[in-house]
Amino acid sequence: MKKYIFIILTVTSLLLCILLFTSYIKCSNLDSTLSYDNLSVKNAVSSKIELKKSLNYVSKPVADTYIPILMYHSISDSNPSNTLLVPPSEFENEIAWLHDNGFTSLSLDELYYSLTTGNVPEKPVVITFDDGYDDNYNSAYPILKKYGFIGNFFVITDYMDTKPGFMTVDMLKEMHSNGMVIESHTSNHQELKNLSDEDKKTSIKNAQDFLKEKLNIDSKFLCYPVGRYDEATKNVASSLGVKLAVTTEPGLANMNQGLTSLKRVRISPMSLDAFKSNFKSFTN
Ligand SMILES: [Zn+2]
Repeated sequence: MKKYIFIILTVTSLLLCILLFTSYIKCSNLDSTLSYDNLSVKNAVSSKIELKKSLNYVSKPVADTYIPILMYHSISDSNPSNTLLVPPSEFENEIAWLHDNGFTSLSLDELYYSLTTGNVPEKPVVITFDDGYDDNYNSAYPILKKYGFIGNFFVITDYMDTKPGFMTVDMLKEMHSNGMVIESHTSNHQELKNLSDEDKKTSIKNAQDFLKEKLNIDSKFLCYPVGRYDEATKNVASSLGVKLAVTTEPGLANMNQGLTSLKRVRISPMSLDAFKSNFKSFTN
């Protein structure tokens, strides 16, 4: 009799364990599904792209795939070290307008995917910030979070943790762990076009090493300091694994420009109507 009770108890507890385990699995699946609706894209970029694609991607010929890459710098009312600024109130109006009008913000990985495949959200937008000012963390990041948008931050890695007015590594870590993309604006912001091949390489490689060491990011995107580059710059960047690089040349990004010389839309202080005019091809 004792033996039977023992067997029954063992079987019951085994069943209980299986039940608990399966419900745990269901829960964790649910969590990861939910996270897609929030700011997406951390490490499992490819699977998240798949899901977004199934939600609202359309298919176009690559040659007809144009994507606005917005270029912001400082988000502040005044910044003594930079005249390239947009006040936070204007920035919020712009992000709110994009949000309310059905735009999908893309990470750089998703931008690469869309440009190279023609699978693209109906209303795509890529939001980029150059240099790495601390107001990006204090002012832009909370607004992006509020609207569930992804920001792509090209930072000058030598300035992080060292130069007043720029972000700290802790700020970058927090943003990165909340779905923001941190990428390279080189280590020292020297104009790559003017450097020797060796110095070009050092400037790009040091930033990649920094991002890997401090944030465990395998850097594959680049923003040219002051938008200056030449053929040699593109070749050096490609040899270091850069898949896509952005310039300051005005226009919507398209594959035909070359993936390492993509155009962007500069956002300076402007009326909301002027801002909207950048998206005419998506709103008419
Ligand atoms: Zn810059």
